[in-house]
Amino acid sequence: MKRKIAVLPGDGIGPEVMTEALRVLDAVADAYGHEFPRKQALVGGAAFEEFGCHMPITTLETCRDSSAILFGSVGGPVNAMNEPKWKDCERNSILALRKHFHFSSNLRPAKIYPSLKHLSPLKPEVVEGVDLLIVRELLGDCYFGKHEEFEKNSERAALDESEYTESQVKAAAHAAFQAARKRSKRLCSVDKANVLTTSRLWRAVVHEVAKEYPDVELSDMLVDNCAMQLIMNPAQFDVIVTTNMFGDILSDAAAALPGSLGLVASASLTGDGFGLYEPPGGSAQDIAGKGVANPIAQILSVALMLRHSFDLEQEATAIEAAVETALSRGYRTADIWKKDETAGGNVPSQNQKAPVGTSRMTDAILAALAEHVEKNARQLTAAST
Ligand code: NAD
Repeated sequence: MKRKIAVLPGDGIGPEVMTEALRVLDAVADAYGHEFPRKQALVGGAAFEEFGCHMPITTLETCRDSSAILFGSVGGPVNAMNEPKWKDCERNSILALRKHFHFSSNLRPAKIYPSLKHLSPLKPEVVEGVDLLIVRELLGDCYFGKHEEFEKNSERAALDESEYTESQVKAAAHAAFQAARKRSKRLCSVDKANVLTTSRLWRAVVHEVAKEYPDVELSDMLVDNCAMQLIMNPAQFDVIVTTNMFGDILSDAAAALPGSLGLVASASLTGDGFGLYEPPGGSAQDIAGKGVANPIAQILSVALMLRHSFDLEQEATAIEAAVETALSRGYRTADIWKKDETAGGNVPSQNQKAPVGTSRMTDAILAALAEHVEKNARQLTAAST
């Protein structure tokens, strides 16, 4: 397969973790016989230095001319937000990009790695086995309706209008059913149909779309119950699909489960598979340039891109398995290096080594990837003889 990729490393740790993610992409391309020609483009503060704006037209053109966008992160130090280089940087770059391409759904996986369950803010026995995906609708709901402040009965009042169209719900539902098909074929649709008219439309349309996916088991859950279940029993979920606002909140709650921003990736998709892939964290200026950032979120963004834009399931799974193997062998960057309290306090978790830097972590993932590819090839040869 040959696919063109726009690479936008951005600021802070963005370029550092992107370099590592591209090493993994190259290894997958070599191992599976693909070509991923890529074009790098400036965005954020890095673009401002060169072009005086955060999202140059040439960067947008590079994105338009590609099959997928790999995004790092943008933004400056939190105490320099008013400097021209950093003012409105995030809004002018990543938010502008999301708006420009009209991404209709956002995918946020959250997985608890067995060797890292002690990092979760929840008890290890509660998060054991968590491997879920939240699909959030992105173009409807009160984010896009009328917003008004007014006076009513001599006091201040405000209004945010929430609207959904059938086609908006359909787009998110298809994305979710397709994602569920690639996983364990269970989808939970989350709404507030006992109160909201938009939620009643949501539920009706999701059930209509379900008829096209008879192999996927669909259930419904009210959002208040879902928030509670994500904390009490998150392992029950496979794929969750929900509205823009509920998804905004629930996906951040789910992202907290693994215990570090460095472990989760995200995808924003259009209906035809074009996507923007990025870690949800920022430019982490406090650790930028030190070679200690965790590359896993950016590497997992590559896996999401292979799966959702290029339909390369085997290659995506190989990357995810390699990340899991490297972690199980005790490799940790500083953000996920923590004594395992469950093992009696002050005892390093199983196999845990001293913290490693960004590229050493990637070396461990690349080594595991090579082993995974070799093992698969051996199995294929054995099966065919
Ligand atoms: P941040 O996400 O950059 O960092 C929060 C904390 O998490 C920091 O301690 C950081 O060191 C740590 N962290 C984040 N990613 C990490 C990784 N891969 N490895 C190890 N540790 C990691 O949030 P912030 O400090 O509030 O914001 C910094 C800048 O990033 C701001 O300018 C903000 O506007 C911007 N930002 C950008 C995006 C984006 O590009 N999508 C998202 C959020 C924030």
